[in-house]
Amino acid sequence: MLAENLARVQQRIRQACERRGRDPSSVTLVCVTKGLPLETIREAAALGVTELGENRVQEARLKQTVLGSRLKVEGEGFEPRTLNLERLKWHLIGHLQRNKAKDAVELFDAIHSIDSLALAEALERHAAARARAIEVFVQVNVSGETTKFGCRPDEASALARHIVSQPHLRLKGLMTIAPFAEDPEEARPYFRRLRGLRDEAQITDHCSLSLSMGMSHDFEVAIEEGADLVRIGTAIFKSSE
Ligand SMILES: *Cc1c(COP(=O)(O)O)cnc(C)c1O
Repeated sequence: MLAENLARVQQRIRQACERRGRDPSSVTLVCVTKGLPLETIREAAALGVTELGENRVQEARLKQTVLGSRLKVEGEGFEPRTLNLERLKWHLIGHLQRNKAKDAVELFDAIHSIDSLALAEALERHAAARARAIEVFVQVNVSGETTKFGCRPDEASALARHIVSQPHLRLKGLMTIAPFAEDPEEARPYFRRLRGLRDEAQITDHCSLSLSMGMSHDFEVAIEEGADLVRIGTAIFKSSE
């Protein structure tokens, strides 16, 4: 089932790209494995998945420890080398509290949820202490819903500029979560808005910024609106169509 679901999602990504004349290889599929058992991650890795999205620091630590990915502690019966588990790239997609910044720098390759100057500064400090650079995205609350994390749209550009000036943070782009609606078309204006913010930020920073947007129910619309990374869980791991 996993193999079929993954193939179907990849096919839908290709078709969305074709509708806009985009190169399908320009869209990165981040497989969201939060709450899923390790066995499922191993299965996904065996199918060639390399980008994983998690939303909790502790859960990611446990998984990396047992999988032998990054922390290189081989769990019983696991074979990191044959499954290329060392090559997994871990994305933190959930909200990050400042007091977990140190753990996040240790465990993740990319963090999609930077929403304040204070968090950016904490990450820079811990990344500097480990002498490593970390990829980051500014999360923008485009819809303004109070239940969503992210900076205000009018704060995004200043936050992006601050990050660019930090030696251990690599600004990769902007991230958003569109409000859930039965009809994915309703997400389009939010994705378009994030793209507009990216274009504005880009002019000031002379760098090429990516867009992390689109989940199971709206990723095709997101790709049509320029998503470079889509974060998909349910459609790959919980769909039994
Ligand atoms: C859970 C989650 C996703 C994946 O959602 P699905 O609907 O399962 O595809 C993507 N992004 C974020 C920030 C999430 O928390």
